[in-house]
Amino acid sequence: MREQRTRINDSWIRVRLKLKSKLGENIYKNWIESLELVKIEKKSAVFNVSNSFIANWIDRNYRETIIETFKNEEIFIDDILFEFKNKNSLPFSNEKNIPKKRDINLSNIKNSLDNNNIELPSSPLDKRFTFERFVVGKPNELAHAAAKRVSEIGPVTFNPLFLYGGVGLGKTHLMHAIAWQIKKTNPSSRMLYLSAEQFMYRFVQALRFKDMYGFKEIFRSVDILMVDDVQFIAGKESTQDEFFHTFNALVEQGKQLVISGDRAPGEIDGLEERIKSRLAWGLVVDLHPTDYELRLGILQSKVEIQTKLHPGITVNKGILEFLAHRISSNVRVLEGSLTRLFAYASLVGRSIDIDMAQECLADILRSSERKVTIEEIIRKVADHYNLRMSDMISARRSRSISRPRQLAMFLAKNLTSKSLPEIGRRFGGRDHTTVIHAVKKIEELKNKDLQIAEEVEILRRMLEA
Ligand code: ADP
Ligand code: MG
Repeated sequence: MREQRTRINDSWIRVRLKLKSKLGENIYKNWIESLELVKIEKKSAVFNVSNSFIANWIDRNYRETIIETFKNEEIFIDDILFEFKNKNSLPFSNEKNIPKKRDINLSNIKNSLDNNNIELPSSPLDKRFTFERFVVGKPNELAHAAAKRVSEIGPVTFNPLFLYGGVGLGKTHLMHAIAWQIKKTNPSSRMLYLSAEQFMYRFVQALRFKDMYGFKEIFRSVDILMVDDVQFIAGKESTQDEFFHTFNALVEQGKQLVISGDRAPGEIDGLEERIKSRLAWGLVVDLHPTDYELRLGILQSKVEIQTKLHPGITVNKGILEFLAHRISSNVRVLEGSLTRLFAYASLVGRSIDIDMAQECLADILRSSERKVTIEEIIRKVADHYNLRMSDMISARRSRSISRPRQLAMFLAKNLTSKSLPEIGRRFGGRDHTTVIHAVKKIEELKNKDLQIAEEVEILRRMLEA
């Protein structure tokens, strides 16, 4: 008997070592190291652990691996069971014996939380998505500033931070940047970043394995929770419900939330009203579509990175300007174009010139060609300012008409590929110098007058939508 016991203990030592290399140092330290093997009985390994939460977690996540590793040691078990250190034996395994909520020793769970030994199911972070690599311009400066503020983990001033904007404008980049920053400056703070889809997946799993308790403990033990692309849970009722409770629990504890979505909270169809209103509680910031300057800035910064990857490849003058001008608002596409150009250039061993760009990016350039017509622009602007279309092309010069007209010309210049003379012609046969003047005027006003800037932005969006 004693002999057998020694043999089992020895093999547990070897099994532990193997588990360490299979599961990694972190998991091993958090979960396996403190496991005591009590006995092997009826093809089950019985372990002693300090509380049922730990037991539950190990059973849920590492059961198969443990059984498998025992097998390699020629010890054939088909289950693992647990006893608790400070309680009478309360073995359980799988769903059949998971203790009901009232059986769980709360003070132990609290301890395990305080010890921070619940592993957080964070999604992997892209190492390129840092603040250093985020180019700031007018369209994203507010979002950037808010993200920076959150990453400083000072007192929570706005909760949640809600970031929204169209695809490829940097929402995920900013959230990862917050995460990296916090890892660097506050490595001990418990941060959890995941997509809403992952949130749902975890939730469904928890339901399936009847482990809502564990789920809640994880999500409510964090210092900062970031959920990306929240629009994903629209229409998914029970996930929304859980999200709502998680949200409230964290806000109540003064924990920071950062949420992103593809549009403003109030505009996400299929999202419950109470969630919409919660999401708008804190600071809601909008990542605007990129403007020319920001695109150019991003391209310049990405060229530096690409040049490191492809030394010797040069970019001819005017190429970045060409790309910034021609490739609309999505940064991902912009970035992809540059990557493609560099790959191509290094293949053929030439510098990147305009012909190469035209040829190599033909598909992208074609698809981002603006489909907006001058006609539409005139109509939308006229509608917006309660004018008639005929006013827009008339010779009338009163400010109330000439300003919207200039704005329409500005938009025509920016949203279509029509030449200045062509635009002039379409606005009642005006000269191209009039168009140039209008474009300059609006640019100037945009910089001085926030209201004009906003109106231009609104109109642009309506037209591009
Ligand atoms: P979203 O989540 O809003 O759809 P992402 O954050 O995934 O967009 O951004 C798409 C790509 O564009 C990423 O590769 C990201 O690094 C890049 N990107 C977006 N905005 C910027 C920026 N301001 N500076 C540098 N890169 C950016
Ligand atoms: Mg994203």
